[in-house]
Amino acid sequence: ERIVTTGADEQERAAESALRPHGLTEFVGQKVVREQLSLVLDAARARGAPADHVLFSGPPGLGKTTLAMIVASEMGAPLRQSSGPAIQHAGDLAAVLSSLDEGEVLFLDEIHRMARPAEEMLYMAMEDFRVDVVVGKGPGATAIPLQLPRFTLVGATTRAGLLPAPLRDRFGFTGYLDFYTPEELVLVLRRSAQLLGVQLTAEGAAEIGGRSRGTPRIANRLLRRVRDWAQVRGSGIVDRRAARAALEVYEVDELGLDRLDRAVLEALCRRFGGGPVGLSTLAVVVGEEAETVETVAEPFLVREGLLGRTPRGRVALPQTWAHLGLTPPRDAPG
Ligand code: ATP
Repeated sequence: ERIVTTGADEQERAAESALRPHGLTEFVGQKVVREQLSLVLDAARARGAPADHVLFSGPPGLGKTTLAMIVASEMGAPLRQSSGPAIQHAGDLAAVLSSLDEGEVLFLDEIHRMARPAEEMLYMAMEDFRVDVVVGKGPGATAIPLQLPRFTLVGATTRAGLLPAPLRDRFGFTGYLDFYTPEELVLVLRRSAQLLGVQLTAEGAAEIGGRSRGTPRIANRLLRRVRDWAQVRGSGIVDRRAARAALEVYEVDELGLDRLDRAVLEALCRRFGGGPVGLSTLAVVVGEEAETVETVAEPFLVREGLLGRTPRGRVALPQTWAHLGLTPPRDAPG
């Protein structure tokens, strides 16, 4: 398991829920999204109506699920959670929708992975709070209209561009989450340390924040690993020395890149002379799914100027060669 992977398994989800901010004021960073969202929620509260449907878009681990929970708690409404991959038939969605209570918040994670027929059913549900349930097959099939309670849909996606326009347009508001600055991650870490009862120095926080790929999930995970090191090999305090030593053990470098990131960059430079090389070829060489490389490793590498995306494929940039300590060939792209 990658220590800086942006995904979370079940065990980690449990550890995470203890650290989740419960209200918008506790939520660190993402100032623009916070402000926009608070307007949407305040207005809905003033009208005494459920909030408009909301979409959160951005790389994993930046707080989409947390914000969905905050929408529900700020509206004083219950939250129902499901996800795109869990909804493979229109019937699956009809079952979820018809069991909602008035005002309930429905969170659909990975909404871009929902099956097409369900997606079409969702259009009508979002707009008219009604669905047509088709009973039977062939010429004898009948559509039975079903009235739904008014609900708020909160969708999350790692790639808003993958959503068909009719679905995207039905959200009243889309919040684009961006990577956090190291300073914001320090605030996340301080808050988490307090909740975990961990003593964290300013230098320790800065060291961990700087290696967390702009992602609170990773910051919290690294904090737990450094705490382990501090308890077993150090003084129990999470300071710079503990952070450096622990992160070396876990092969997280100064930029927060781990083995997969470096494998992608190494393959790009050493095997393909700096590219351009197609995503799927690159993924095969590093032994990962193309989607993982694209959604987990690439956004941060692109943002750090370590990888370029061109119509002809992925390319190394001057910083890529420098970071790996390699000399670019004369004809290298970028
Ligand atoms: P995924 O799409 O992979 O589920 P996500 O974007 O939904 O990721 P969350 O599960 O909301 O991410 O957040 C991951 C962890 O990071 C949680 O433990 C959460 O508490 C913490 N976190 C995220 N954003 C913030 C924030 N702004 N302030 C404090 N903690 C945060």
